[in-house]
Amino acid sequence: MAEKRPPRAMVGAGNEEFWQGCDNGELLIQKCGKCGHRPWPVVQQCEQCGSDALTFEAVSGNGKLASWCTFERPYYGDLMPVPYDTILVELDEGPWFISNPKGFANTEAELGMPVKVAFLDCEDSHGAFKLPVFERA
Ligand SMILES: [Zn+2]
Repeated sequence: MAEKRPPRAMVGAGNEEFWQGCDNGELLIQKCGKCGHRPWPVVQQCEQCGSDALTFEAVSGNGKLASWCTFERPYYGDLMPVPYDTILVELDEGPWFISNPKGFANTEAELGMPVKVAFLDCEDSHGAFKLPVFERA
């Protein structure tokens, strides 16, 4: 059964492509064709060199745990009952990605713990979608 979630960021060029990738089980992150930088979240111009030669490429989905926190304030009402865990993952390709843990709680988190992406069936006001979350590698 799909988890109800707050609305995704759907506004702006590139976000639809990102979510389409998730629906296909791929974590698509932009890559700059000029300098190779991997920006995240989606940008219209490279943060490093200013180029707009950005293309989406699937990353491995592997990374390591860089930080974590537990939200105890209800920003989303019943859609995200508190407390809930949030993690910061450093992807192997470089970008830092904020997500939720799957299959472990932040009380078990360890700095540098290897993790891999998984896609959780979710639903928001736009419909069904796959949310990238991270589990132990
Ligand atoms: Zn660049």
